Amino acid sequence: MIYLNNKLVPRDSARISVFDHGFLYGDGIYETLRAYDGVVFMFDEHIDRLFRSASMIELGVPKSPDEIKKAVYKTIEANRLKEAVIRITISRGAGPIGLDPALCPEPTFVIFASQFREYPVRFYRKGVNITIAGIRRNYSRALDPRIKSLNFLNNVLAKIEAKKKGAYEAVMLNHRGYLAEGTISNIFFIRDKVLYTPSPKVGILDGITRGIILDAARELQIKIREGRFRPEDVYGSQEVFISNTTMEVMPVAGIVKVMTFPAPGDFTRLLHKAYKKRVAEYIERER
Ligand code: PLP
Repeated sequence: MIYLNNKLVPRDSARISVFDHGFLYGDGIYETLRAYDGVVFMFDEHIDRLFRSASMIELGVPKSPDEIKKAVYKTIEANRLKEAVIRITISRGAGPIGLDPALCPEPTFVIFASQFREYPVRFYRKGVNITIAGIRRNYSRALDPRIKSLNFLNNVLAKIEAKKKGAYEAVMLNHRGYLAEGTISNIFFIRDKVLYTPSPKVGILDGITRGIILDAARELQIKIREGRFRPEDVYGSQEVFISNTTMEVMPVAGIVKVMTFPAPGDFTRLLHKAYKKRVAEYIERER
């Protein structure tokens, strides 16, 4: 069942207009969330980011945070899910051809939830390969990466590049050549026992998983440096991992045709364990 606008409808009848500006112009926003044992993890943080993205494109969210939360749980329950991936999508809605948001009186609001499929165990045991993409991350004064927008071609192009190079994920640099983020993930690396990750100032999506990892690292008294880094800084590191809501902490085994890393390294393992502990505590608290 799919939640479409104000009700649950069977998957095959969940249809939207070909005049939807989400379809015509990528005009809209979304969030991807994960439920563990029926509990949506970091729900408030995802809802906050959804509203932030909406406000950055001047899109009025047609529901309150509480209404969205209720609709998400309704969708999870209607599909009898416990371990789920949930996507909330809000587009500008249907309207005549033209860019003016005022052409679309009603946003389209969609939630779908599907069974979470575990990543192959070998990804965590041996790591995945990445490449540093030639495609640069959107310039933040053109399209701010903090907006989790339906306009995802920048990332799609980098993903195409990754696939051609035989890499699982492509990490993009910003317009000035500083390390930014993956197509759907944030990047971290360890050098001399210090945890490095690009600063939000570089122009990235400030990942919710990234935030938890940094918090866990602080608690473990691991030194952290958020800043502007070059690919060479990663080449000189001892461990690399990427993160997002569904993959959590994913070890990186190498940069295709450049180098390999021990995967998972000690810090990666430690931080993933700390992440899982936070998930367990959250689920316990929210149940
Ligand atoms: N960066 C990009 C471009 C993403 O699309 C995502 C998530 O899909 C992330 C980072 C990680 O964000 P989160 O940890 O909130 O899932």
